[in-house]
Amino acid sequence: MNYKAFTLQNFKEIPQIGKLSDEVCRDMTTVGTVLPFKSNNYIVDELIDWTHYKDDPIFHLTFPQREMLSDQHYNKMRNTLDSTTDHEQIKNVANRIRFELNPHPAGQKEHNVPVFNGERLEGIQHKYRETVLFFPSAGQTCHAYCTFCFRWPQFTGMDEFKFAARESENLVSYLKEHPEVTDILFTGGDPMIMNLNTIERYLNPLLENISATNIQTIRIGTKSLSYWPYKFTTDPDADGLLKLFERITALRINLAIMAHFSHPRELETNVVQEAIRRIRGTGAQIRTQSPILKHINDDPDVWADMWRKQVNLNCIPYYMFVPRDTGAQHYFALPLIKTWQIWQQAYQMVSGICRTARGPCMSCTPGKVQLLGPAKLNHEEVFILRFLQGRNPDWVQRPFFARYDEDAIWMNELQPAFDNEFFFENEEIKVFGEHYSDAFPNDFE
Ligand SMILES: *Cc1c(COP(=O)(O)O)cnc(C)c1O
Repeated sequence: MNYKAFTLQNFKEIPQIGKLSDEVCRDMTTVGTVLPFKSNNYIVDELIDWTHYKDDPIFHLTFPQREMLSDQHYNKMRNTLDSTTDHEQIKNVANRIRFELNPHPAGQKEHNVPVFNGERLEGIQHKYRETVLFFPSAGQTCHAYCTFCFRWPQFTGMDEFKFAARESENLVSYLKEHPEVTDILFTGGDPMIMNLNTIERYLNPLLENISATNIQTIRIGTKSLSYWPYKFTTDPDADGLLKLFERITALRINLAIMAHFSHPRELETNVVQEAIRRIRGTGAQIRTQSPILKHINDDPDVWADMWRKQVNLNCIPYYMFVPRDTGAQHYFALPLIKTWQIWQQAYQMVSGICRTARGPCMSCTPGKVQLLGPAKLNHEEVFILRFLQGRNPDWVQRPFFARYDEDAIWMNELQPAFDNEFFFENEEIKVFGEHYSDAFPNDFE
């Protein structure tokens, strides 16, 4: 199958789009000018049911929708497009709107960058003791630009990112000095967007030095199983990629493909099932995660079905995330209490084998916070929460309480119960690595 990408520039060439009304296309153009989008021929031909496109989860996931922008932002962009064709002017208006959509939640790129020999190691993040994130610069794009994803701003005016050998050298040097790190997570963007040669140039220095580090798990975060499974089946470097996976597992390293699946439909095609079989054949594991999203999967049956299908295909459910405060959050977000209800009902429908999933989980500045559920304590309605990951490892698994809140959709809207502050709020953070480049605020972005 030959890959063909669709973006704002060419989406009107899609025959199925040609059948939609002019008004729908104008909405897509207007919203897509602010929130970049990308789709491809597999998504369009195999995943979206165009006869019901208005309610189709994959259509909502990959194409812009009118309601993703507020009326004010929408009208502003639309009036601009109606009145000018000047690219600079259009870009300026789009950028001003983007700035109002919280483009950098949880300080993704600024915080947690380690310093090594006096130098900031850009492209590396070390937030939780055991795990280092690595952002290979050649992997900073994705098969789709989901507008609930914290990465969306990097797709707006992207520079050409190029492979940089120093990045992997820095990574290896850092890991050699930090034996507390057992896990390395290759993320992006989507590292599986890179060709095999580039992937190998990033991974080889690590594999050649693996015994000088304490790395035991290599994770690769990717959406490619959902949006381009041919990467693992018929693409020219598919066989070579699987050989690379075999090389990793032969080193007795746990290779975990962290696959982003948001809907059972993404697990139903022959090609995705073949891709999963081939990856599993290399000894790699596949762990699955997704945010819970209105219009896509805000239904316990959908989650139960998705977990069931994943387990039947030999994948391990891992995280259910709450969408972050960025981009089109208002379009996708649900109140936390509703999220928890969906979670609980879905969890009840499946056996323990599917209950490896953890959630609902908010990835915030202090850590990953799980909503365990509502409860009544001392005649007071509360939420019970806990850290699944903490900037201070000692916070992990400690239950804490917030006031019950019917409307809150994110941690920053919750108030402590029984106390003036959450237990961790004014605690000095013990950093585990030797140095961090910045002191970080303890807020809940
Ligand atoms: C989620 C996350 C990890 C991995 O946490 P696990 O619970 O081990 O999956 C590591 N670093 C950051 C910054 C994360 O957000």
